[in-house]
Amino acid sequence: MHLPFFLARRFVAAETLDDTIPVLERLKSMGLMTTLDLLGEYVDERDLAREATELYLDIANRIADEHERSGIDANISIKLSMIGQKVDEGFCVDNLRKLLHVAQNRNVFVRLDMEGSDITESTLSIFEQVFPDYPDNVGIVLQAYLKRTREDVHRMCELNARVRLCKGAYKEPPSVAHQSMETIRESFVEYMKLLLSNARYPGIATHDDLVIQATKDYAAANEIATDRYEFQMLYGIRQETQQSIASEGYNMRVYVPYGRQWVPYFSRRLRERKENVWFVLKNLFRR
Ligand SMILES: Cc1cc2nc3c(=O)[nH]c(=O)nc-3n(C[C@H](O)[C@H](O)[C@H](O)COP(=O)(O)OP(=O)(O)OC[C@H]3O[C@@H](n4cnc5c(N)ncnc54)[C@H](O)[C@@H]3O)c2cc1C
Repeated sequence: MHLPFFLARRFVAAETLDDTIPVLERLKSMGLMTTLDLLGEYVDERDLAREATELYLDIANRIADEHERSGIDANISIKLSMIGQKVDEGFCVDNLRKLLHVAQNRNVFVRLDMEGSDITESTLSIFEQVFPDYPDNVGIVLQAYLKRTREDVHRMCELNARVRLCKGAYKEPPSVAHQSMETIRESFVEYMKLLLSNARYPGIATHDDLVIQATKDYAAANEIATDRYEFQMLYGIRQETQQSIASEGYNMRVYVPYGRQWVPYFSRRLRERKENVWFVLKNLFRR
């Protein structure tokens, strides 16, 4: 099914990299840093995974060029399932190393997004294989809803890895993931404290005011300077809050997805919040 792009425009910056660069510049002018995600996931053919890797090499070079040209501070976010994780783990590691090699040479940071729980262990293991060679250029994501995450937080603190902490966006069964928002939030706050105190430059990725305030309070109480961590939010969600947090002097990074394969990402954003469905329907009828 090919849905028209205007439906996704609130959450997806553009369909091409050329059209996305001005969005990064606009966000920079608002005091916001960015992380760029080329949409796509679960590739099961080697050729497609190689193609995606090449596209990501272009993105890394382009981000570095644009940094030199206009000073944008953009990271890359990538889903390993797009570069061959489902085909063969070794093949995926080779593809990731190609990207990290360019990232290291051009001083770009690459974040490995976390996907469904079926590949959590594989994603962490791939991260641990590449991290020693690229400690300044690669980071990982942990999801507070997973029951395994407390151990993973300790595992990543031991490495002194850069972790993005989020609640988790995939539908997971009660056997592996907490289902109650209260428990997920409590876990998030517990892990946030561990990461702020014990790991390098964590990214606190949430739109939840309670968690954001708990982070600010914990950092202030423990004299953790605002340049030792960052907040992260998604493109198109709570834009005024993004700006006001940045204007208070905190680092704020916006996750900017682009590309033609936007339907799965877009569906997750709709599932998170029923108001978004109304937003899309209103747009449909406005045209
Ligand atoms: C930068 C970033 C990177 C992420 N990376 C990953 C990843 O790698 N893997 C993964 O599984 N998940 C990822 N996520 C998604 C995350 O796991 C959650 O699904 C998502 O952020 C919603 O949880 P929340 O903490 O924002 O709180 P929620 O409790 O969902 O929301 C709190 C408040 O935020 C606002 N809000 C939240 N979501 C929306 C929305 N869709 N539309 C409008 N308003 C909204 C509402 O005001 C809501 O009351 C990422 C999120 C961010 C911000």
